[in-house]
Amino acid sequence: MNLFAYTRPASVAEAVAAGQAPGAAYLAAGTNLLDLMKGGVMTPTHLVDVTRLPGLDRIDVLEDGGVRIGALVRNADLAHDARFAKTYPAVAEALLAGASAQLRNAATTAGNLMQRTRCQYFYDPASPCNKRAPGAGCAAVGGATRLHAVLGWSEHCIATHPSDFCVPLAALDAVVEIASGAGTRAVALTDFYPLPGDAPERETVLAPGELITGVRLPPEAAGFQAHARYLKVRDRTSYAFAVVSAAAALRLDGDRIGEARLALGGVALKPWRAREAESVLAGRAPDRAAFREAAEAALAGASPSGEANAFKIELARRIVVRALTLAAAGTPARVPALPASPFAPSPAGAAHG
Ligand code: SF4
Repeated sequence: MNLFAYTRPASVAEAVAAGQAPGAAYLAAGTNLLDLMKGGVMTPTHLVDVTRLPGLDRIDVLEDGGVRIGALVRNADLAHDARFAKTYPAVAEALLAGASAQLRNAATTAGNLMQRTRCQYFYDPASPCNKRAPGAGCAAVGGATRLHAVLGWSEHCIATHPSDFCVPLAALDAVVEIASGAGTRAVALTDFYPLPGDAPERETVLAPGELITGVRLPPEAAGFQAHARYLKVRDRTSYAFAVVSAAAALRLDGDRIGEARLALGGVALKPWRAREAESVLAGRAPDRAAFREAAEAALAGASPSGEANAFKIELARRIVVRALTLAAAGTPARVPALPASPFAPSPAGAAHG
């Protein structure tokens, strides 16, 4: 039994003051943190319960046409907000592809961003893990690597980021709002997670005590609502993290792609924005040849991090083609309750990659 102090601050200012104490951790729904504490993986000495902070459970349309999602908005509430789901369908689809209904009812926006990797060795305190104990080594290297990274990994850590929600957020240029004792700052989601390099214990750009207060989507993100999809391939449709996923969003100008957005999940220690692939697609007809070329560009830098995960590279290419194909066919009137199956009938004229 690890003893810890518990505080429930009444304001963001009180929270960030308490969060600066050595050994402090912020607690929202606790869907990941409490499991980690029970398993002895995390041993905070002070829990700062932010669940009652006022004003962080709102979805606000901004004057510039963007949207602000409060840090405490529940994943299910966001996915089922009719205006939000209509405007950002790939984000809603990703939320509904994540976890289980019970977890989505509890899990928060900021908690989703802050969840830890699901690398099985990270969750086993008996295994060496550079993320848990810097310098200890990485048990995954040479171990069971089927779900590990194929992009952006280092010899010090080959884990992947587990979030579905963050993948379309990365594609749509989401910005993370952060509060500290010094005020507030904003960081692009694509810059929020450093790659592991030689310091995989550093998982985000947050300084000690900094608190996520919200996530913003810029006005341009709404311009993709007619052609946006999230496609997740996982071992068990009812509840599993992504083997590979992709968020694809297109803005069509007549019979050409005016602008494309693409991000991948399950392939790296961060949601992976595929800007080279986006460049390939701009100005092209939305057809299989362009999508396959984009997929090649998206995975051009990929390499297996273990014997068991080379298959993810070609799988990711095919998921990219399929997600772009689905996006080009048009956002469905209703977001599917379960992720679009790669084995479902193809939209007219579409084929598997
Ligand atoms: Fe730890 Fe990363 Fe290695 Fe997994 S892959 S054991 S999280 S260092």
